[in-house]
Amino acid sequence: MTSMVAERPTAEAALTIDVEDWFHSANLKGVIARGVWEECELRVERNTMRILEILDACHARATFFVLGWVAEKCPQLVRAIDAAGHELASHGYGHELVYSLLPSEFRSDVLRSKRCLEDLTGKSIRGYRAPCFSITEWAIPILQDLGFDYDSSVVPTVAHDRYGRLPGVHAGKPVVLLRDGFYEVSISCIRLGRRGIPWGGGGYFRLIPYPVWLQGVRTILHSGNPYIFYIHPWEIDPGQPHVAGIKSIDAFRQRVNLHRCEKRFAALVRTFRWMPLCDLIDGWCVGHGNARCSLN
Ligand SMILES: [Zn+2]
Repeated sequence: MTSMVAERPTAEAALTIDVEDWFHSANLKGVIARGVWEECELRVERNTMRILEILDACHARATFFVLGWVAEKCPQLVRAIDAAGHELASHGYGHELVYSLLPSEFRSDVLRSKRCLEDLTGKSIRGYRAPCFSITEWAIPILQDLGFDYDSSVVPTVAHDRYGRLPGVHAGKPVVLLRDGFYEVSISCIRLGRRGIPWGGGGYFRLIPYPVWLQGVRTILHSGNPYIFYIHPWEIDPGQPHVAGIKSIDAFRQRVNLHRCEKRFAALVRTFRWMPLCDLIDGWCVGHGNARCSLN
């Protein structure tokens, strides 16, 4: 049963939105090449505005990791997210898997997205999330050098073929100081030893029965760890085009329960009290006596 009053467990819940369009999804990468993005129907603005409405109705604040390509196409959307009091962060520019790039290519991709968001908002951008959670160790010093102070790109699980890894990050430690002044905030998993079952969003959120999902979130929060959730705007859009010629596993990941997702997401937002990752990290730093944390 959904309570009308948001639950306030001792641990904290952070909400994150990866702002990209349906055709940027890694599930469709094999059939929708970057060269044809311009020809695809742009649906991200409407879907993201709907997410903003859902959050606004519950006074929830979130971190929006915006793809640079989307920010250039929809500058008014970036301004709307900022005006609503949310945190803006970078999802890179071209949605390339980090471990498929040269370090120099990664650097220019991320820098382009960061500059675009900073030019649009006049605010410094602190956070980065790798496309498809494809982070890798060499990328971290580059992010710090570019002025980021946190990354949120690890799903500490063995259950997915595309996810990247960072040493020292596991399901039992959602916030990790990776380097002096630089943090990793990983996506929530239900602990299974040091590994985890993804419990932070995506196809898992759409597939697992909602009451079971809710129970898992409460288990994480009651363990004293913060909960970190993510969603893409295209996941609340069952009207997105069907794409022929993709593998059945990718079609399943892209489309499973899209028609239920908006209602389910709105219920989750109503149930807990949410904050952006910048607030979660700053609070974590205060709790751990690290005064260097808050840059802004
Ligand atoms: Zn993405």
